Amino acid sequence: MGRVKITVEGFKCERCGHEWIPRNKEDHPRVCPKCKSPYWDKPRKSKK
Ligand SMILES: [Zn+2]
Repeated sequence: MGRVKITVEGFKCERCGHEWIPRNKEDHPRVCPKCKSPYWDKPRKSKK
């Protein structure tokens, strides 16, 4: 049989770099499970 590449969609914390796969990808995590940052999905460069 052939080989296929299975890509699993996951999340990566912009703060600590932690990567994880959510149980339910429809459910957007509020905080990083590792560093508990609520800003895990927001890169820390906001210049105004
Ligand atoms: Zn984190």
